[in-house]
Amino acid sequence: MALSIPQKDEKRGNFIGGAFVPPQAGQYEPCRNPADTRDVLGLYPRSAVGDARAAVDAACAAFPSWAATPGPERGRVLLRAHRALSEQIDLLAEALCREEGKTLSESRGEVQKGLNLIEFYAGQGFRMQGRTLPSESRSTLAFTLRQPVGPVALITPWNFPFALPVWKTMPALIAGCTAVLKPASLTPNLTHFMAQALHEAGLPPGVLNVVTGPGGAIGDALVDDPRIRAISFTGSNQVGLRLYSRAAARGVRVTCEMGGKNAVVVLDDADLDLAVEGIVQGAYGSTGQRCTATARVIATPGIRPKLTERLVARVRALEVGDGRRKEVQMGPAVDQGQLQVDLDAIAAAKSDGARLLAGGERLSGGAYEHGFYVAPTLFDGVEPGSRLAREEVFGPVLALQAARDPAEATKLANAVEFGLAASIYTGDVNAALRFVEEAEVGMVHVNQPTVGGEAQLPFGGIKSTGVGEKEMSEEGANFFTHLKTVWLDYAGAPRRTNIY
Ligand code: NAP
Repeated sequence: MALSIPQKDEKRGNFIGGAFVPPQAGQYEPCRNPADTRDVLGLYPRSAVGDARAAVDAACAAFPSWAATPGPERGRVLLRAHRALSEQIDLLAEALCREEGKTLSESRGEVQKGLNLIEFYAGQGFRMQGRTLPSESRSTLAFTLRQPVGPVALITPWNFPFALPVWKTMPALIAGCTAVLKPASLTPNLTHFMAQALHEAGLPPGVLNVVTGPGGAIGDALVDDPRIRAISFTGSNQVGLRLYSRAAARGVRVTCEMGGKNAVVVLDDADLDLAVEGIVQGAYGSTGQRCTATARVIATPGIRPKLTERLVARVRALEVGDGRRKEVQMGPAVDQGQLQVDLDAIAAAKSDGARLLAGGERLSGGAYEHGFYVAPTLFDGVEPGSRLAREEVFGPVLALQAARDPAEATKLANAVEFGLAASIYTGDVNAALRFVEEAEVGMVHVNQPTVGGEAQLPFGGIKSTGVGEKEMSEEGANFFTHLKTVWLDYAGAPRRTNIY
């Protein structure tokens, strides 16, 4: 498969009905490298409602035939795409690094995660299961069938430009649905590579369609279209909750994975090296722009001074810059808007009385001149009610909080509206299991960072982070199906059913 990163003025189309087609209004937006905005990775359609409708038309036309295709055969298409993409890891990682700004090694990690998901869902074509259950009646076979819900809409954020579109697209396709994918406007590139790979692997035209353009303009057209039978959204609470209520108004199935404010609890008996490493990775990896990023560290008194000292030293030493350079450990914010959010959160923390221990400023001049760089930032003494303790930043700004004992640490960890991921560092198995039980989140880690997910394991949050089915894993594909209950009576004689 021949993939190439588009040149500066190269126009890419929407992928509709198995071909890249220009947007109806002929408008395009550049895709810029946040590490150096002079680096442009092509021009992408600024689509409007008509383009979204055309994509839904294509998805509807392709649905009956794809739904009737046996699961293993669907899986083989995914497997062929997986092989082709696996041969292009270096190119995909470079495109990802230049498009989103994460470092090359983080980008390779994300591409690999996406590939693992494709591999997992290819196999899921053999495993889409219903159940056989005993009926109340004799000579009756009772079972359930999983059937695709229909054409679906998939809406993704910018922070995982490859893995996230993959983790929605593959389960939808393997379940037998056709899809319209709307990637984030900032990061369209990798979704085009995915579409091309699937197309060349034999995916029939119209089964996957990719439309780029402002969510505000085409999002509603997808969400409100009565032909769209399920919507899978990942992004901010602000957009997600609005979308959820619109979709609910027409009774359509929705999953929304939204923000987080993830805590790491460090108890007195924790392995300090392990905790420091895990916190730095979780808080500053991908510039803190992960839904599962570590945003708060809550430590008990016996370890707090040493932990704080070690964290300050590590954070101040982090190398920030263009992720294509090998020595760089943290890239830029994704755009001017996110940079401003980071700087506003820093200003709010200062005015709320938190103590700045590291960073706290925009990096500019020299190699930073053309990018959106913020210094990795660490605050201590962050009060539980303050903005930095409660609100998602989605940037490299970490809050340290104090707890008297493990019980108070858990209480503080739970004192936010979000419920995505949490972690505890301790050598005490009882304390760890108590935390596993009491943490109000969808995913808990013991002695490892808050970040990460695996194809075969359910991913997602509770409270105001997530509504609907968990993603990835078997559950991720089940979301795109409905369960039909079947009774097959082989008695061959009329009789009363069990309810009389
Ligand atoms: P966002 O602004 O909510 O955008 C997400 C997607 O929704 C984008 O494709 C966006 O399009 C689109 N959109 C915007 N307005 C819309 C509308 N009215 N109707 C339908 N779609 C619309 O979020 P983001 O800034 O890209 O991503 C950051 C957020 O994602 C953070 O809150 C983070 O925690 C969350 N996130 C959560 C998870 C999780 O699994 N829980 C994973 C990753 C990220 P445009 O790009 O064109 O605006």
